[in-house]
Amino acid sequence: MIPVNPLLDFSTLPRFDTILPEHVRPAIESLLAENRCLIATLGAAETFPTWDGFVQPLTDAGERLSRAWGIVGHLHSVNDVPAWREAYNEMLPEVSRFCAEQGQNLQLFAKYKALREGGEYARLSPARRKIIDNEVRDFRLSGAELPEAQKPRFQAIQEELDAVAARFSENLLDATNAFAEYVSDEAELAGLPADVCQAACEAAAAEGKSGWKFTLHMPSYGPVMQFADSRRLRAVMYRASATRASEFGPESLDNTPLIRRILELRAETARLLGYASYAELSLVPKMAESVTQVLGFLRDLAAKARPFAEKDMAVLREFARSELGLETLEAWDVGYASEKLRQKQHAFSEQEVKAYFTEPKVLAGLFHVVEALYGLHIKPDSAPVWHEDVRFFRIETPDGALVGQFYLDPYARETKRGGAWMDEARTRRRTLKGMQTPVAYLNSNFPRPVGDKPATFSHGEVETLFHEAGHGLHHLLTRIEELSVSGIHGVEWDAVELPSQFMENYCWEWRVLQEMTAHVDTGAPLPRALFDKMRAARNFQISMMTLRQIEFALFDMLLHSAFDPAGPRSVLDLLDEGREEGAVNSPPAWNRFANSFSHIFAGGYAAGYFSYKWAEVLSADCYAAFEDAGDPFDPATGQRFLEEILAVGGARPALESFRAFRGRDPSVDALLRHSGMIPG
Ligand SMILES: [Zn+2]
Repeated sequence: MIPVNPLLDFSTLPRFDTILPEHVRPAIESLLAENRCLIATLGAAETFPTWDGFVQPLTDAGERLSRAWGIVGHLHSVNDVPAWREAYNEMLPEVSRFCAEQGQNLQLFAKYKALREGGEYARLSPARRKIIDNEVRDFRLSGAELPEAQKPRFQAIQEELDAVAARFSENLLDATNAFAEYVSDEAELAGLPADVCQAACEAAAAEGKSGWKFTLHMPSYGPVMQFADSRRLRAVMYRASATRASEFGPESLDNTPLIRRILELRAETARLLGYASYAELSLVPKMAESVTQVLGFLRDLAAKARPFAEKDMAVLREFARSELGLETLEAWDVGYASEKLRQKQHAFSEQEVKAYFTEPKVLAGLFHVVEALYGLHIKPDSAPVWHEDVRFFRIETPDGALVGQFYLDPYARETKRGGAWMDEARTRRRTLKGMQTPVAYLNSNFPRPVGDKPATFSHGEVETLFHEAGHGLHHLLTRIEELSVSGIHGVEWDAVELPSQFMENYCWEWRVLQEMTAHVDTGAPLPRALFDKMRAARNFQISMMTLRQIEFALFDMLLHSAFDPAGPRSVLDLLDEGREEGAVNSPPAWNRFANSFSHIFAGGYAAGYFSYKWAEVLSADCYAAFEDAGDPFDPATGQRFLEEILAVGGARPALESFRAFRGRDPSVDALLRHSGMIPG
């Protein structure tokens, strides 16, 4: 019997043709009630917990809720009309409350611990053991194991941390908004793109002013630093940006005391849970094994990149002196001079490139890469969709067995949130009815076709498509049969970008590009000369950018491991020490970068900023296995990547998966080589 509420129909693909906003509340309420009731029953049960009697029913009920709520969240993201926004926002607090309750439920924690210590544990599959281990770990890290006397303090710390982090963001936003530079002399606009001037003019007019208004928001600030010939304008804007939310501005917006408080609270959290530092605690669920390992990794990479960065910097200084008349290259000159140098060395038209990446060719090219790598077939399929732009595909084995399916919603719309992302509609797992195949959503905001011509994508958009397809394949090609570690579930945070960044490499293979380009007017493939220019420009100043990222990552790691917020050293002292190891151009002494580093103070990157470089190293090193084999489509290497990396999901530690694929530990050499940073 099919339920009346289509959100509660789990027998098939989401019924986007019949689901309405008014279905949300009754469906989610009934699923929350079902879950709460089950949790209460299982938690109170006197019998010893078993996989089949405890984990299985909990997983089944949890999956129903997350599938239904996943559809609602998806529609909120891709069809953000008032009725859907309201339906989503109405239930969001309820769902969040339920998740928080579940994470704090001590009865559940006790059952998981009993399972791990009981006799059944040893007989379970490695995937099931991993799920139980993860549950116990996560309960423990959220304070469930603390002595009763310490629990209220732990809870109070977490609440204060949330509040201080929110305040940090608010201060930063307010400080960003508080500054504006009004320009009345048109000569100061020299070098700026016309659309940026237009926007600045409109911004001034909106306040009843004449002239131009520039702000610290990226669409205004970025182009000024990159293009404005006026050194005065650049210097004023740079200083305003680099001192945001610091002691140089209003005291009420100064983030300095908040930084110290956040560090104190994090250190206390770590101490309560028995870790030497917050960095150590942060690494527990990550792939990286220790603070020493991460610091060693960053310093090794820095040492190798430094000679190249110094050379790049010397070239830039000389260029700025001889061609731009800038005797000393100040912090506010670097972006500007770099742009001028880039134009001189690597000029090519993005528009010209874009004309070759026509949508049908690009999609066929992507599918061909997947087919060639893994021996699978991608075919058009049909399903109810949420918008006429959306397409649906299926992935099959050569003998026609269904592996997984995915939706592709490529074009920008007013009702779609920005950016590009992969999301899961259904996850592979074995159920009583058999194998449930996975389904993914691939969403992006690419330009739609104009007139009767196909849509054309920039090379950056093509890279984005491949990146998200990489996440999608991680979800779709899994062979794991247990929900909580299937696909991207349970994969360590610093390893989850491996499959996505790996796929980007194929956007730089000549063989692939030749096949996946056809000029929108002539049908001709991308010319080799243009491709060579793209490749040469790809690594422009990459060593300088690498060092900058490492500087941030080292600062973050040292701040959370080797810094005592109650001690005599200030955060600024630490930042200065890190700089000696980091960048090749020291910013001015008044730069207060930390006061706007919201990634680590108000985002999820605390003692985790290294993950950007970490994942890049992993993906480059995996790709190098194909280079070693002499073929980006080497079938044996492709099968191994599929079996050891993509298929295993979160069922085993990412480092083990990497070693199984590569036969050794990760090495930074491939990333350095791909970035043109090879000694000699
Ligand atoms: Zn990603």
